[in-house]
Amino acid sequence: MPEAADLPDAATWHQRAGALQPSGLALINGECVPARSGASFEDRSPIDGRRLARVAAGDTADIDAAVAAARTAFERRAWADQPPTRRKRVLLRFADLVEAAAEELALLETLDVGKPIRDSLSIDVPATVRCLRWYAEAIDKLYDQIAPTGPEALALVTREPVGVVGAIVPWNFPMIMAAWKIAPALAAGNSLVLKPSEKSPLTAIRLAQIALEADLPAGVFNVVPGEGRTAGAALASHMDVDAIAFTGSTASGKAVMECAARSNLKRVSLECGGKSPNIVLADCPDLSQVARAAAAAIFFNQGEMCSAGSRLLVHESVREPLLSEIVAIGRGLVPADPLDPRTRLGAIVDEAQTRRVLEYIDTGVREGARLALGGRRTRPDSGGCYIEPTVFDGVQPRMRIAQEEIFGPVLATLSFSNLDEAVRMANNVDYGLAAAVWTRDINAAHRAARALRAGMVYVNCYDADDITVPFGGYKQSGFGRDKSLHAFDKYTELKTTWIDLSASAGPGAGAGPGAGAGRT
Ligand code: NAD
Repeated sequence: MPEAADLPDAATWHQRAGALQPSGLALINGECVPARSGASFEDRSPIDGRRLARVAAGDTADIDAAVAAARTAFERRAWADQPPTRRKRVLLRFADLVEAAAEELALLETLDVGKPIRDSLSIDVPATVRCLRWYAEAIDKLYDQIAPTGPEALALVTREPVGVVGAIVPWNFPMIMAAWKIAPALAAGNSLVLKPSEKSPLTAIRLAQIALEADLPAGVFNVVPGEGRTAGAALASHMDVDAIAFTGSTASGKAVMECAARSNLKRVSLECGGKSPNIVLADCPDLSQVARAAAAAIFFNQGEMCSAGSRLLVHESVREPLLSEIVAIGRGLVPADPLDPRTRLGAIVDEAQTRRVLEYIDTGVREGARLALGGRRTRPDSGGCYIEPTVFDGVQPRMRIAQEEIFGPVLATLSFSNLDEAVRMANNVDYGLAAAVWTRDINAAHRAARALRAGMVYVNCYDADDITVPFGGYKQSGFGRDKSLHAFDKYTELKTTWIDLSASAGPGAGAGPGAGAGRT
């Protein structure tokens, strides 16, 4: 991560922000267009309430147009049938152009969602670029299969693009979440309609413009901004969309599944919420290291992280010293201007999310948990949305703040007396996205890792991350995986092609070896 002193100062970023004129138009079939209805909404920054852009309020008509463009591009095979080396070149160029626009994209992201500019520059943009490059590089390295059916036949198992993919993404990491869908979907040869969150449409629109500059054919990558219940639902319900890749809350994920079931049974993959446990055993290696990791796990990105370590499950013998270190770290994290490169904790995405987090803090106090740190809104003069890092102690497993996703900088601390109790507590929520265990005991680490019902388990670390490993959850955290080669499962159909090689094969043959044996 760059030092703050190596980056332009706050005044420079504010000056650049003033000069930006972000587009709020949809991008359909290679054209920047307003919503067909003419409707638009105002996009304001949570940093200080400044107006950023008027954004096209897409609805069914715009989704219809975008899906038609994607379908036409797919049927023309203008992208899907390009030689792999050509598709790879285009996606690599896309990545290069995104990297070249790093400062503009980072600034748009910070203005739109309030995250610190240093994070946008050093995490969001590089992770987006790496994701695009990684899937671009995969294109000409994937082989199909021949099944071991015997000498009398050739059974080819091949992967084909599903066709038109609808991607619906949230606002906490707008570019990265979009890239996790765009990169594998395009690498596999699909056409795409991306519906960004209504709270963070700006970088998605800019990414689609950049893809055109990289020579991605018009219609292959379309963006329709708009609300979930209009544009999102229209995409999920569309009869000509073959797959929906969704990231967002569990409630919206359920709505998307219903839309798919009621329409054309399109395949659905869901990356949903979490309430991830961070388990600290009595023999954890280094309490200060655990404290730093536990604080980062809940305060990074203002706690607006699906995999946030929002439940600290700590052995009662180390609860007090650990908690006092976490509280000290939290006290040093003062929410400040996200455009100042020294800022570590920025703004909450908008008023609605700020109210929601504050309501959960009130609920925690009412339920009888002890507020050990924070709990208040801050920077009232900024005109923006800021909440202090907040730590609850004495949380009981059935409390709402121990069960429900808050999606803000709020940590719930629970204590336990043995590993079995910790694992039971960890698993006793609706979610199963991530989990961590801190211990020197290798047996305890493996036993916990096996028993934890979560898609990602960290041992003596939190939030280890790489594009090479799958990301996704168990239970109501969803199904299907982003990242790694496993993501291709969401964007490809498996086809089996039987070729009869038996001696009797020829005109009029056709009941080759094993014919009929597999009929059901
Ligand atoms: P959200 O569910 O409100 O919105 C997510 C997206 O879905 C937005 O684009 C929204 O417009 C759209 N949407 C909402 N209702 C819809 C509907 N009925 N039909 C179709 N689309 C609809 O979530 P959010 O507040 O934007 O994001 C926060 C949530 O995302 C948290 O729950 C977080 O845990 C989750 N998340 C999960 C992951 C993961 O990989 N598992 C990653 C990031 C965020």
